[in-house]
Amino acid sequence: MNLGLKYLKSSLLVLILGIFAFALTLENASANFDFFDLSGESSDKKDKSKKKDKDKDDDDDDDDDDDDLDKEQKKREKEEKKRAEKAAKAKSKSSSDSAESVAMKSESSKSSSKSESKKAATAGSAAISEAMETVHATVETDPVPSGGDAADDPAIWANPADPSKSTIIGSDKQGGLAVYDLGGKQLQYLPDGLMDNVDLRDGFTLGGQKTAIVTASNRKDNSIAIYKVNPQTRLLEAAAARTVKHGITIYGSCMYSSARSGKLYYFGTSKSGDVEQFELFDNGSGKVDAKSVRRFKVGSVVEGCVADDELGQFYVAEEAVGIWKYGAEPEAGTTRTQVDKVGGGHLVADVEGLAIAYGADGKGYLMVSSQGNYSYVVYRREGNNEFVKKFRVGNGSGIDGAEETDGIDVTTANLGSAFPSGVFVVQDGFNDKGNQNFKLVPLQTIIKN
Ligand code: CA
Ligand code: CA
Ligand code: CA
Ligand code: CA
Repeated sequence: MNLGLKYLKSSLLVLILGIFAFALTLENASANFDFFDLSGESSDKKDKSKKKDKDKDDDDDDDDDDDDLDKEQKKREKEEKKRAEKAAKAKSKSSSDSAESVAMKSESSKSSSKSESKKAATAGSAAISEAMETVHATVETDPVPSGGDAADDPAIWANPADPSKSTIIGSDKQGGLAVYDLGGKQLQYLPDGLMDNVDLRDGFTLGGQKTAIVTASNRKDNSIAIYKVNPQTRLLEAAAARTVKHGITIYGSCMYSSARSGKLYYFGTSKSGDVEQFELFDNGSGKVDAKSVRRFKVGSVVEGCVADDELGQFYVAEEAVGIWKYGAEPEAGTTRTQVDKVGGGHLVADVEGLAIAYGADGKGYLMVSSQGNYSYVVYRREGNNEFVKKFRVGNGSGIDGAEETDGIDVTTANLGSAFPSGVFVVQDGFNDKGNQNFKLVPLQTIIKN
């Protein structure tokens, strides 16, 4: 009996010691859990992601101070500092860092801080399992004059007389607009303001002549910058009848040439989530004037936009949310459909530039910059904008890939032997040599028309 009790006591002691040891092991394991979690990220990477989110939040806070030029200046200096840090990071990033791991990092870092995090994380992992194609640029433009985050958005002028002498017009949001030939050489630089987005439409009757009109959203004085293309010199010439101010605090912009009415429009977007539409018209003496014809609220920050001239649609990127489609006519109202979304869709915030590749019979593609994972998403232009695929512009022979892209543009027009099926142009946030620039990708390597 005594022996039994002794045995029981010692068994109990062993059990207690065992539980204690197990508890210690558990604590250790949870301390190291970061290394084994489902996202496959190291805790170091996570900390960086968290920092990125924090930086983003800081950015958002700053956005309320648009009107104050002093604060804008300070903000730019701050962004400059951040960019230097980021560029250094991008440089030291190993080349084995695959598209998928970039995507994964962004997906999980963005979604972890958002309220819809759980839903997004689940669906996000489905999105990143889709194949990410890689294409290469065959031409890059000269760097923009301004340092830091300066290049923003390209527009393509297809030269009707000689397609191989077409041009790329690129915005330098710290200083003005540049014009490049298809070899990437800068032909012109106009230091006219803080041009954010730029767009172009040809066939506008100005002073009795069919003219290609270029507009840009000028954040320096909150105006619409308006130019025309001189088809002989290929350079831009001032065409505004007067300084036309926006009724909103301008950010991005795009144009709409209505197939229905023949009228030309300009859309401005803002960090407060508003869109303002202007009609552009000849003032009677060969200059372009504009009048506000519609204004509506999308939601949070909107910048990139594009209009489908034939189908009469206006697409706008709500940067942290996704892509919306509205009617492009001034009387279209605010009925809208969501084409795709951040978290659960194919996009990683910020959703930036949009462009339309026109095919025959109302078909073609809507292309979008998914800035958060350095990629581009392709949807069908017609119907419900079905998802087609996503791709990156990777390092090629002698030309670095495109990262953190803001603006994009595309044309399906034959631009000569270098771009026989058109060209896809993207802003590159991290050019390997010098200031930011634009990358040109032959369209046939991305989509078949
Ligand atoms: Ca940028
Ligand atoms: Ca933006
Ligand atoms: Ca690059
Ligand atoms: Ca380069």
